Amino acid sequence: MDEIFDVAVIGSGMAGIIAARDISEKGYKVVLIDARDRVGGRTYMDAACGDVLELGGGYVHWTQPYIWTELQRHGITLDPPMDEGKNYWFADGAVHSGSSQQFSQIVSPLLERLFADSRARFPMPFNLTAIDNSKIEKESIEDRINSLGLSSYQRDVLEGALSGLVHSYKSHGIAQLLHAVATYSGNFDAFFETAGTWSIKGGTKKLIDAILAQTDAKLLLSTPVSSITDEGSRVIIGTRDEQTIHARMVITALPLNTISEIHITPNLPPLAQSMITEKNPTMAGKLWIRIKGEIEPFSIYAPAGKYPLNALRAERYFDGDTLVLYDAAIRDQDRSGVQCLLQRFLPGVQVVDIAYHSWVNDEFAKGGWMMNRPGNFTTGAVELRKPHGNIYFAGGDLSESEPGSIEGALSSGAQAARDVSIKLSKQISNI
Ligand SMILES: Cc1cc2nc3c(=O)[nH]c(=O)nc-3n(C[C@H](O)[C@H](O)[C@H](O)COP(=O)(O)OP(=O)(O)OC[C@H]3O[C@@H](n4cnc5c(N)ncnc54)[C@H](O)[C@@H]3O)c2cc1C
Repeated sequence: MDEIFDVAVIGSGMAGIIAARDISEKGYKVVLIDARDRVGGRTYMDAACGDVLELGGGYVHWTQPYIWTELQRHGITLDPPMDEGKNYWFADGAVHSGSSQQFSQIVSPLLERLFADSRARFPMPFNLTAIDNSKIEKESIEDRINSLGLSSYQRDVLEGALSGLVHSYKSHGIAQLLHAVATYSGNFDAFFETAGTWSIKGGTKKLIDAILAQTDAKLLLSTPVSSITDEGSRVIIGTRDEQTIHARMVITALPLNTISEIHITPNLPPLAQSMITEKNPTMAGKLWIRIKGEIEPFSIYAPAGKYPLNALRAERYFDGDTLVLYDAAIRDQDRSGVQCLLQRFLPGVQVVDIAYHSWVNDEFAKGGWMMNRPGNFTTGAVELRKPHGNIYFAGGDLSESEPGSIEGALSSGAQAARDVSIKLSKQISNI
């Protein structure tokens, strides 16, 4: 391709589309490149269980500044959640049940202990390195839970409450979660509401279409990138089908787990490179379950690794049935397998359909939402976010605020767009 773009944005998930929109709005010539034949990345809607459903990220909240600004800009609102209904929790090998208030009375004191130092560790959540957190940075969630001296029942209850976010207590660091809770003034429930309750009316696709309608960036789909070479005066992007695309600057807005497949020249500094090598450990998919009839709303919590279903909730009624959502580590379960697992909590329940998207087997994601490994959140991620010559790294996996979320992707994409625009405008004023 002979054309030279001011900016090439690689990856058209939420981070990439916001970066492309913001830079093109300033009059720069932008190309937005994606390996898939669609935009949206890990926000993705498709036909499932008779409806069109979110198969990736979907929950957002009005307390999240970037998403809320975008939704307001496009006149899009939110769908209220169903009542939490009856709660079921799996602990000490048995199923327990009660109202959501009863579950909260058991779990809240445990969560308070787990996150007691969140605000002390991250007094200014907008500045991750405001204080030295090297002591806790290496602590896994498992280490932290071990330090609380819980009974096995309490431990299962606590791990169950976290299981919508955490699938491996050992490979996820506590620092990211402490930061998330600190962002919401030390209140886990407030943070958790943003992460798993309210969805976009019309879905993520509606927002993505609205954002893309505001950009004249050239969109190149079905174009997997294989190399990025910064030559100083320009960056050359090589694709798997041996095209080259030239730009003055590049923003990569890729899932962390796919960056290692792209040959980047010059080499990145060791700490930034180690973030790429160590990857995002969340191995997740999304499961929708359609249950026969409109059953009483419910939520289920079970510790990861101790039961195959972990954090589920009835999402809404559809055509006389109940749709249930699970952001899951589940594998190899068919409809009758899922029914059998659910019946342990809801005897007699009939599953009429399931739909599952594995983000682990998805070659352009290779993982779920971001949960930093112990040791990476205030070190490797910070380093990778710094500009590397004319190459900038963005994305929900690397975000400073709310990593692992749509909000994180938008804020990171917008930040990279601001940094790149400033650099481009300085270059122009120096000519
Ligand atoms: C199951 C699941 C549930 C989630 N639930 C929520 C939720 O409820 N709320 C929430 O806020 N967040 C949630 N998340 C997280 C949220 O979806 C992500 O943080 C966010 O969508 C990431 O956006 P992104 O633009 O950074 O990356 P992505 O959306 O992954 O976009 C990256 C893009 O890069 C492209 N790409 C990859 N490799 C190449 C290549 N070699 N060349 C060119 N392009 C390439 C991909 O095709 C993709 O389009 C969830 C995620 C998952 C997986």
